[in-house]
Amino acid sequence: MVNLVLVLADQLTHTLSALEHADKADDVIVMAEVADEASYVRHHPKKIAFLFSAMRHFAHELREAGWTVRYTALDDAENTGSIVGELLRAASDTGASRVLSTECGEWRLISALEDAPLEVTVLPDTRFIASHKRFEDWAEGRKQLRMEYFYREMRRETGLLMEGDKPVGGKWNFDHDNRKPAPDEVTFDGPLRFEPDEITADVLALVKSRFDNHFGDLEPFWFAVTRDQALQQLHHFIALGLPKFGDFQDAMMSDEPFLYHGLISFYLNAGLLTPLEICRAAEQSFTDGDAPINAVEGFIRQILGWREYVRGIYFLEGPSYTSRNYLEHSRALPEFYWGGETRMRCVSKAVEQTGRDAYAHHIQRLMVTGNFALLAGIDPHQVHEWYLAVYADAYEWVEAPNVIGMSQFADGGIIASKPYVSSGSYINKMSDYCKGCHYKVTAKTGEIACPFNVLYWDFLIRHEERFRGNPRMGQMYRVWERMDEERRDTVLSDAAEVLAKLDRGEVI
Ligand SMILES: Cc1cc2nc3c(=O)[nH]c(=O)nc-3n(C[C@H](O)[C@H](O)[C@H](O)COP(=O)(O)OP(=O)(O)OC[C@H]3O[C@@H](n4cnc5c(N)ncnc54)[C@H](O)[C@@H]3O)c2cc1C
Ligand code: SF4
Repeated sequence: MVNLVLVLADQLTHTLSALEHADKADDVIVMAEVADEASYVRHHPKKIAFLFSAMRHFAHELREAGWTVRYTALDDAENTGSIVGELLRAASDTGASRVLSTECGEWRLISALEDAPLEVTVLPDTRFIASHKRFEDWAEGRKQLRMEYFYREMRRETGLLMEGDKPVGGKWNFDHDNRKPAPDEVTFDGPLRFEPDEITADVLALVKSRFDNHFGDLEPFWFAVTRDQALQQLHHFIALGLPKFGDFQDAMMSDEPFLYHGLISFYLNAGLLTPLEICRAAEQSFTDGDAPINAVEGFIRQILGWREYVRGIYFLEGPSYTSRNYLEHSRALPEFYWGGETRMRCVSKAVEQTGRDAYAHHIQRLMVTGNFALLAGIDPHQVHEWYLAVYADAYEWVEAPNVIGMSQFADGGIIASKPYVSSGSYINKMSDYCKGCHYKVTAKTGEIACPFNVLYWDFLIRHEERFRGNPRMGQMYRVWERMDEERRDTVLSDAAEVLAKLDRGEVI
């Protein structure tokens, strides 16, 4: 009996469970570029081009390895436009009635496959370190699901950076040594840039013709599109960027969009790299004396800890997670998130970079665009759709917990123990953005005051009932109380004016 083997755009891994359970001699692999997936949010053109090109290269590798691959290109005349449509068409053409699939990373697709009039066998996604069962067992009975404790268990289980049952270096977490402000100069040149080959050139032409009206620049296109290239990027980063990754992990610089970051999430999330191989390569660099423990531990924590943890939360919390709105925020996402004008230099730099590269690093996402959206009370669902669209590494299982949970506190504190909000002073400390800004970061009130400064207090006061009792926030409420009343009134009325301008669509 012939089976169809579904391979999705983020499942480009030769050891994928669906492939491991398939029969090379008889089964037919189904891969499809479909309009539904490319446009259910308006994905960045670079992201679409990356995935289509990586899919085409992967299909080629599968054929070379002896598989039969049925590949539908976006512009094929018979393309039905959806994954289920393509499976049904393949089933009718081949006579297959059974589909093998590795679990999808999004509830929307999971339920589309469940509802399809086909027999679908869903296999676990073994590319993750923690299975659903492992995460559920860990979460069971805990009042708070703090990443740090989950991470320690993952360290013990994988043996990464362990000496027997003790963490290497005597501590689980070296963050205390990290988080230095922006350096004077950056010695790492950033990611490798790959010249588009013929396959990529075809994809670029296709994406240009179909998605030119999506936010973001298609070209220059420089992403890796094969596992070989992704491995080159990984080793390039491990050799040259990792040693200083920890020190400058939280820094932001206007002219250094990549600083010492890995630029591997695109490749990892699409399946071109696997989490354990990345962690082992980083660990090796420490063992060889090439990178210090604060960098290597910090980096491994992001992948072994945060990445596995947010996936666990996404599947634990279920399909309703993306509609959570604990703080009842409802303001529309301002136009400047799509490249419209703003005088806030930090936001305009982060958005400009996002438009150019479909990338911004963690602190730009969290403490600039995310922080502003939270302070200004933007509808978290709109914020979620924005992040899902504009970043080339964004898939709902990883994006939603980071946005709905960590960044917008819309899950009521499942992920974050307090909202990630700050005034302009944090941005000023960690970046060089404020120097050339229209606003003055040291001005606390008045026309020229940094909008983050007034919105910060406005946020705390708006949500006083919810947060006053939070032990990590009490100190800020005491600072507010020590301000004289006149000043407090001015801060709140300045904040109201900023928000009114936003609502009127005026430039802020
Ligand atoms: C609001 C917000 C939205 C985000 N959306 C996404 C997203 O859609 N997809 C995504 O992969 N990451 C997301 N992140 C996490 C993080 O910003 C990116 O993983 C990172 O910027 C990717 O760039 P890099 O490869 O250079 O990472 P590095 O800084 O070099 O970090 C190494 C790796 O650690 C992993 N990692 C780090 N932090 C996280 C995290 N919080 N959650 C999951 N993995 C993490 C990534 O795989 C990353 O490649 C988001 C963070 C925030 C605050
Ligand atoms: S002054 Fe405020 S708005 Fe301007 S760059 Fe600094 S933090 Fe951003």
